[in-house]
Amino acid sequence: MALMINDVHCHFFSTRFLELLAADAGGADEIAKRLQWDPPRTAVELGERWLAELERHGVSRAALIASMPGDAASVAEAVAHHPDRFVGFFMHNPMAPGADILLTRALKELHMRGICLFPAMQGYHLDDERVETVFRAAAEHGAAVFAHCGLLSVGVRGKLGLPSRFDLRLGDPLALAKTALAFPNVPVIVPHFGAGFFREALMAAEQCPTIHFDTSSSNSWIRFEPGLTLDAVFKAALGVVGASRLLFGTDSSWFPRGWQAGVYKEQQRIMDTLGVSATDRAAIFGGNFDRLFPL
Ligand SMILES: [Zn+2]
Repeated sequence: MALMINDVHCHFFSTRFLELLAADAGGADEIAKRLQWDPPRTAVELGERWLAELERHGVSRAALIASMPGDAASVAEAVAHHPDRFVGFFMHNPMAPGADILLTRALKELHMRGICLFPAMQGYHLDDERVETVFRAAAEHGAAVFAHCGLLSVGVRGKLGLPSRFDLRLGDPLALAKTALAFPNVPVIVPHFGAGFFREALMAAEQCPTIHFDTSSSNSWIRFEPGLTLDAVFKAALGVVGASRLLFGTDSSWFPRGWQAGVYKEQQRIMDTLGVSATDRAAIFGGNFDRLFPL
């Protein structure tokens, strides 16, 4: 039987996203041109493009991330057309004015299922009481919390010359564990194995059974630890959290580049090298996603 693939980490770079990202840059089409991206057009059209891309690569379902606060509605539109293929995630800033209203609206009216936190970008600690408010809302609405820890570099910001004065100290997985432990029914996803805070991410996940890792991106953070390989990262993660708490992801984003098949191939190679069982692979590449985000 063919392996079912679900991708927990795809960015939905919509027209509205580009407008919110660079408000003074002359509109979405102009920004797309500068980036040499295809213009995203309407949210529905971008959703169709994603669907065709997933079909082409044999990917069943994907989480689409609204990647600026205020863009959840774009992802909601795409999800509404293909609820069996897309799950909606959205970037949320718990420090913003009116945050609670926006959060409730995204969960209740826009049916988002993953709340994405970027503490290093927006300047708060993961054990702040306003993060507890986020977890409380997630518990109430059956959503997951996706918390970006570790190194944060946003490629598109760099390309557009946007300031990125992020405080990386705020992406500490141990602070996340403290909050997450109080909400045993809220699944938590830490992308890229903690993106440099690998040891802390493992410790946090050991302490807190709701913490999952996503495997997405090229995981180039491994260069911060001399001699570390992605094979060794998978081996350690499997040893500490096991296959049931690893979620495959690519961190795909813009077109025409599209879905990052290279990430998938590399991680399958690692599965082969480590001799990971078919059952565990099925969990990592698809089953865990379906468990967290049932149809
Ligand atoms: Zn990402």
